[in-house]
Amino acid sequence: MDQFKFFMPAETFFGRGCVLENKESFLTLGTKAMLITGRSSAKKNGAQKDVTDALDACNIPWVLFDEIGENPDVETVVKAAKMAHQEKVDFLIGIGGGSPMDAAKAIAVLAANPQADSEILFTQPDAKALTVAEIPTTAGTGSEVTQYSIMTLHEKRTKRAIIQKVFAKASFLDPKYMDELSAEITNNTAVDALTHLIESYLSVNANFFSEKIVELGLSLFKDCIPALKERVYTSEVRDKLMLASALAGVAIAQTSTSIPHCLGYFLTYEKGIPHGRANGIVTQAYLEMFPKEDKKVGQLLHCLDMHSVEDMGAFLKDVLNTSETFSVEEVAYYTERAMESPQKIATFPYPAVKEDIFKVYEKSLLS
Ligand code: NAP
Ligand code: FE
Repeated sequence: MDQFKFFMPAETFFGRGCVLENKESFLTLGTKAMLITGRSSAKKNGAQKDVTDALDACNIPWVLFDEIGENPDVETVVKAAKMAHQEKVDFLIGIGGGSPMDAAKAIAVLAANPQADSEILFTQPDAKALTVAEIPTTAGTGSEVTQYSIMTLHEKRTKRAIIQKVFAKASFLDPKYMDELSAEITNNTAVDALTHLIESYLSVNANFFSEKIVELGLSLFKDCIPALKERVYTSEVRDKLMLASALAGVAIAQTSTSIPHCLGYFLTYEKGIPHGRANGIVTQAYLEMFPKEDKKVGQLLHCLDMHSVEDMGAFLKDVLNTSETFSVEEVAYYTERAMESPQKIATFPYPAVKEDIFKVYEKSLLS
């Protein structure tokens, strides 16, 4: 067997009520917290109150920054980091979907380096970060167990990962926060988790552990397929989606993502298509880039009880409600832009040139 490395440092708690049941663990994170949330969901789904109750019970003072929008931009994390520095907080708690969780990591870097320009997010790999805890309220990004933080860069008209590897020190996975999550967000985020599983499994960076983790994630995901199609989710399904998403996060933490994520960023930036749906739209055509005889694609489909790449395409269409229209010019522009990210394309196990990327966009967006 080939040599490999596996790393996942986040202490991870799972289960309904896990924040309050493990409140003492906040005492190990620091002495003053800043909660990082979106505008409203953390208040409505009870996650924010659980965290503040836990902090109050431990006599840990806290402040709140609740202005993180979807696909957070650098400007917003700069604003939050200034507040974190002024308030002298020494740890951050991201509560929400991937947007607040990713934002917490970038804020952690900027707040630990108050004199530095925000450029350091993309230039100084060794820049220190404050301690971060994460509480996911969507089952999709896996940010609670990955080192990644994806920022929107308006001057580059795209999204890009910060260069530092910021793992949460602790993550609390309580599926009850998703009880009222809409079918649209549930399905879009579930497809994000699915694409993490797929892209990790088929990557040149995959290793024995990452593959086994993906296979477990796919078996949990398979059980959720009927619920995703019917758009009715029991608490057992919510549990499985949250676990599958975390497993997918652990897998991409080892391998990174691949072509669908690279291509999806431009659909999100230019058309406002939610992240998971953007990846899902290009996934069938990405799978069609593999030669028919590729064994791993067959194994992956088998784990999901699917018989062909067309089955996967039909499933994605069913759960995603895609309705956007695109022009040939847009497809050409996205192709040019995608070719600027050779690292993700290089995780594809066969040669992939510009014409291949154009074809993926063309099949996905124009037919
Ligand atoms: P999101 O942008 O965090 O949230 C989408 C929407 O869902 C927001 O309107 C949010 O409301 C709402 N919401 C969140 N939790 C809810 C709940 N429990 N109940 C009701 N509404 C809820 O979406 P996301 O798909 O989870 O995250 C996407 C971001 O993560 C993208 O920027 C993507 O690039 C990034 N990402 C990161 C990684 C990684 O490894 N770090 C991997 C994949 C993707 P509020 O705004 O009010 O909270
Ligand atoms: Fe993703």
